[in-house]
Amino acid sequence: MDIEETPVLDNHLHLDPVNGRNVEAVEEFAEHGGTHLLVLNKPSWHLTEAAADESTFREVFDLTVGAVEDATEVLPGRAWPVLGVHPALVSRLVEDGHTPEEARDIMQTGLDVAAEYVTDGPALAIKSGRPHYDVDDAVWEASNEVMRHGFELAADGDFAIQLHTEGGEDFAEVARWAEERGLDRTQVVKHYSGGRLVGPTKSVLADKDELEIAIEEDEPFLMETDYIDDPDRPGAVLGPKTVPRRVRWLLESNHDEAVRTAHVETPGAVYGIDTEATLADRDGSGD
Ligand SMILES: [Zn+2]
Repeated sequence: MDIEETPVLDNHLHLDPVNGRNVEAVEEFAEHGGTHLLVLNKPSWHLTEAAADESTFREVFDLTVGAVEDATEVLPGRAWPVLGVHPALVSRLVEDGHTPEEARDIMQTGLDVAAEYVTDGPALAIKSGRPHYDVDDAVWEASNEVMRHGFELAADGDFAIQLHTEGGEDFAEVARWAEERGLDRTQVVKHYSGGRLVGPTKSVLADKDELEIAIEEDEPFLMETDYIDDPDRPGAVLGPKTVPRRVRWLLESNHDEAVRTAHVETPGAVYGIDTEATLADRDGSGD
């Protein structure tokens, strides 16, 4: 198979319409064969100086919704927003003088707003999680409560949730928390995952070694760059052309089935999206 014959989805990328490359990064993705994007909002403190409250979250989400509309115009497929609250916000709020419980409530409000953008608006899924660095017990517990609130929202609205968490391979307990709230574990997606994971669906960073492990594991998976679109940190993460380049490499290595898993079947199973039906005839476009 040739890259022109398959959808190519980056499951987790950020666009910054205020300070970043924004549409230019999407064009680079498309030029290399990319077709679909899930665009995550940047952490609220990157886009606005205002303190975190409901209107701040709306402001940040609206920026991402606008960036997604612009991205869709230059993609042969389309983009969707995934909106949520960065788990590190808890530390910023506590440093600002909030108790962990107050921080939890603010972050849960942000997730409520994100869920509204899925249920009544253009967003596809929400994002939550817990800090990837060491925190004290009260902050850890508050973070887990935020994440479990996210599971409740996703179960109620029947949509998926991406997680930003600490590293590791065993997230069976987290998957159990989701299922206790009525959310299927396949609709919980661990972003920035390695090739091996127990519990949620893995969104594997587009690294050759990790992709090879994911193929050996032979389970559903997604691919992502976590491109951050930050002009102050060029090269801090993988660039927007990385997923298409890795797809080319997989196809050259005769891993057609893995490409279909990551770019058609798993997106369909997790989010209910059809990356084939939403793909224009690329040969015919522009005629
Ligand atoms: Zn990210």
